[in-house]
This record gives sequence, C-alpha cells and structure tokens, in this order.
Amino acid sequence: MKTTDHPSLDPLSLDLLNLLEQADPGVADLLAAEANRQANTLELIASENHVSAAVMHAAGTWMTNKYAEGYPGKRYYGGCEHHDTAEDLARDRAKELFGCNFANVQPHCGANANIAAFMAMCNPGDRILSLPIKSGGHLSHGLKPNFSGTFYEIHDYDVDPESERLDYDVIAARAREVQPKMIICGYSAYPRTIDFERFRAIADDVGAILMADIAHIAGLVAGGAHPSPFPHAHIVTTTTHKTLRGPRGGLILSNDEDVAKKVDRKVFPGSQGGPLMHIITAKAVAFGEALQPSFNDYAAQVVSNAAALAEGLVEHGYRLCTGGTDNHLLLVDLQPRDADLTGADAEQWLEAAGIITNKNGIPNDPRPPMVTSGLRLGTAALTTRGLGTDDMRQIASWLDRVMASKGDEAVAREVRGEIREMCDAHPLPH
Ligand SMILES: *Cc1c(COP(=O)(O)O)cnc(C)c1O
Repeated sequence: MKTTDHPSLDPLSLDLLNLLEQADPGVADLLAAEANRQANTLELIASENHVSAAVMHAAGTWMTNKYAEGYPGKRYYGGCEHHDTAEDLARDRAKELFGCNFANVQPHCGANANIAAFMAMCNPGDRILSLPIKSGGHLSHGLKPNFSGTFYEIHDYDVDPESERLDYDVIAARAREVQPKMIICGYSAYPRTIDFERFRAIADDVGAILMADIAHIAGLVAGGAHPSPFPHAHIVTTTTHKTLRGPRGGLILSNDEDVAKKVDRKVFPGSQGGPLMHIITAKAVAFGEALQPSFNDYAAQVVSNAAALAEGLVEHGYRLCTGGTDNHLLLVDLQPRDADLTGADAEQWLEAAGIITNKNGIPNDPRPPMVTSGLRLGTAALTTRGLGTDDMRQIASWLDRVMASKGDEAVAREVRGEIREMCDAHPLPH
C-alpha cells in the first residue's frame, strides 16, 4: 500500500506518513493500514471513539519531551512553565465540564485512576462493595488478579436475575450486610441509567464512601445525556477516551477538599511517576471540544442512535439484556435468535464483514468469557462519523445478515461492500 494514497486524511496526517516513509517505512505502512481500517469499517465497540484531528495531533507534540513530576507551580523539574499552563487548562476545563471543584488529569488510564482512588479512600484490606465483571462491572473494581482484588476485601452486589437491572433495595440490603468502607457504582456493560442519588443514600445508610466510575458514560454526563454523579459521589473516576472522545487517559474528580488532597498524593507520588504531558495537553483540547454546545447534540444523538439500533435488532429477533438501553450501549443476548451462536463467532464473522464489535458475557452466561453468549455494541464512534437513526436500522440488518449467514464468505464480502459505501459517505472527522 502506498502511504501517500490517502485523500481522506488531514494534511498533518499525510505529512506524518511521508515523514515516516523516510524514517521508518514499516511503521508508515502499518499506520496507513490502520488509518484505512478505521476509515473503512464500522466501529461498534462501546468503549471506543474517533478523536478529532485536533485532539490526535495535540497528543503528539513537544510536550512529550518533558518531565513534570509534581503539580502546576510545584514541580520537581525546571522548565515546566508551559506544562503548568497546559495542566491548569486541562484541570479547569474538566471542572467546568463536570461541574465540580477538583480535577486530577494525570492518571495514565482509567485503571490507574482507580488505583489512585482506592489508595486515597481506603486502606489495604478494607471492604469494598462492587458489581463483578461477569455482571457488567470492570476488572479494576475487584477482579482477583487485579490490584483491587489483590489488596482489598471485595464483596459483590449483582443485577437482578430477572430484569438484569440494578435492584437498589437489594443493593441497600447487601450494603447493610457487608458494611463496606466504599461502594462502587459505574460499569462497563450496563445499558441503563445509574441512579447516583439512590447510591448515595445507600452509602450514607452504612457510612460508606461512594465512588462513581463513569468511564463509559463520561461523554453522556458531560453532554447532559445522563444524570451527573455530582453532588452525590464523594469521588468520581473516568477514562477520557470513551464517550468523552478524548485521548486515551484517566481523570479523577471530586467536590471534597479532603478527597482532593489525598487523590493528588496518591496519583503522584503514590502510584505514578512523570505525567504524560502530551496526553494532558490533548485532554485539554478534548475537554474544550466537549464544552462546546455541539457536544450536547452529539451526546443526545449517541443515545438516540443506541435506541434505534436496539429497535432494529429486536425486530430481527434478538433479545437485549434489560430489554433495551438508556445510554450508548447494548448488550445483545444471541441465544434466543440462535442457540448455537456464540459471541466469539459473531465477533469474528462481523469483523470479516467490516463491523467491529466485542463478545461480552451476559448476566448468568453459561459460556466462558472467551466464548460468551453475548455481544456488546455501542454508538459513540458511529455517531462521531455523522451516522443517524436511519443508518442504525441499516446496521442492525447488516448485523443480522452476517450472523444469520454463520460467517458465509460471500455474504461478508457483499456486506463489506455496502459498508464501504456508508463509510465513504461519512468520512472520519478531521
Ligand atoms: C474502561 C473502563 C475502565 C478502565 O479504563 P482503562 O483506560 O482501560 O484502564 C475503568 N472502569 C470502567 C467502568 C471502564 O469501563
């Protein structure tokens, strides 16, 4: 593939490919191939998005050259003048975006934000109440091999086996039984609105700290399409790269001064060294984008698109866990449509047709995590490329056509061609 063969790329990206063509042709080729893959396939992974060219290029600058251990005005290295400005900008914009008075923008990713949050709020061995990964939670909320499961005493709450939704009365009873130091809400595969106010009442009832991990829904919260965890949560963690559409990274927020002080110490020097100042600069750009009124339209469209995709799939005979979605994601139970169909097969067949998804366990899934009976789908990336509810109907029928064909190569080729047309009509943002 010729790396100069990309009329749809922005000028800086073309320059980068030309530069690498000289400096490192192998890397130039792989990057060009990845740019093509993203341009020509439909991205339905619920935790992914397409950043703007501004965010992408802000992440690759001179800011990468600097050590800036510490915080603005209190660094362990000289020469941090502009890094202080960048980090202050990112922090101020994050606070404005989420309506709170403290932000730490240094966590390298969501899991690192959670490490620092756990360290700030709990002591090793403390009891923590969270939703396990098998029911839609995140591995950093207590999975055994993770830091959380290694250093803390983790207790589970679960979704209701019938409705597959959170049952707040049951969670309240569980909290009284466990008497946790901290309760975690916020998930990776839960398609419904989270009632943060109710969670705070449950936490208050047992004197627990409430931590909200809004990694998936941060963009919806910022865009007014999901209720805010503030003023209810004592501490909020998130990624910046999912619905929030920023660079890959983490973020911790709070309204509590005491929490703020502890968090700053536990991010640095507690759990990280030098911050990724190039990424923090890109976070500032992304938060600036999310502060624009148009980001509210984006968030609303993400939710409408998820609802339209849900309707389309139900019409094709699929069952959605919890019966539908309130947010950007759907958890599809494949069994009622075809008892032999696994998430692993579906993921692979769809990829061959140009639709990128991930297999995902459903509540009480009889199959192991590498096989699963479910598929997790999200609309954040599709919405970024300008697709609307009619397109979601079309995508639902492609999903069904490919899965019903059981990976038939001719069907995959046909669908891939049709998807290519949709992608050409809706190029990635520059
Ligand atoms: C994605 C996610 C994370 C972790 O993010 P990484 O950046 O992959 O470390 C944490 N919590 C939840 C709920 C998530 O969905």
